[in-house]
Amino acid sequence: MPVRKINRISLYQNESWDGFKNLVHGFTTRSGGASTGAYESLSMSPRRGDDMACVRRNEKILCESLGLDLSRLTSTRQEHTDNIKIADKEHIGYGVYRDWGEGVDACVTLEKNVPLLCYSADCVPILFYAADIEAVAACHAGWRGSAANIGGKVAAELVKMGADEKNIYAEIGPCIGKCCYEVSADVAEKFSPECYDKCSNGKYMLDLAFANRLCLINAGLAAEHISESGICTKCRNDLFFSHRGQNGKSGTLGGIICMKD
Ligand SMILES: [Zn+2]
Repeated sequence: MPVRKINRISLYQNESWDGFKNLVHGFTTRSGGASTGAYESLSMSPRRGDDMACVRRNEKILCESLGLDLSRLTSTRQEHTDNIKIADKEHIGYGVYRDWGEGVDACVTLEKNVPLLCYSADCVPILFYAADIEAVAACHAGWRGSAANIGGKVAAELVKMGADEKNIYAEIGPCIGKCCYEVSADVAEKFSPECYDKCSNGKYMLDLAFANRLCLINAGLAAEHISESGICTKCRNDLFFSHRGQNGKSGTLGGIICMKD
């Protein structure tokens, strides 16, 4: 598993992106931060009940470890919507230092040196890189966002900004696996049948990563440009936060991406 120690933190990174120059990207693990208890230790979200002073320290640790500008850190305000925001110059710092004022589950930017951050703990974090226009995006997709095709909509947004879909790369980060994600029929029926298995107890095991892969394929991305971590956050709760694995009280991982100049 490509979890790499980078200064204070450990980051899951898609190795196939190693050749992309000036691109900083990855998914945080639990280690290296300042938070305690259920949030131990690198919990990134300011909206999950963690001590804000710890979250601020963790943002600093994350940015310093990766050589990113903390003052330009920009993030989502996740409410399981399919709302996507383009972070232009005037939006730098939103989600961290200023409130978006509405649910924002994905951010896209063409700006350089703007680290985009999304949060997850079982939900699917997806990072995007449009190589031809050097745009990046960070996206949170729980089952609602996945059912609403938020990943496909982010890809469409990148195309609207000038990218060719064949030049868009997507990395699906650590999330709850089909092994552990039991859902009821009313959730499963929002997805195509190849996304779940029916269990003998009448419940369904849903594969959210695969559901998002389908969204991205349908948006025109090349299959070989979509990578999946293959890591289940609940099975690997030792390394990653898991909402279900920690009975609803957990910290959050960060998916971070930034195009440096
Ligand atoms: Zn699992």
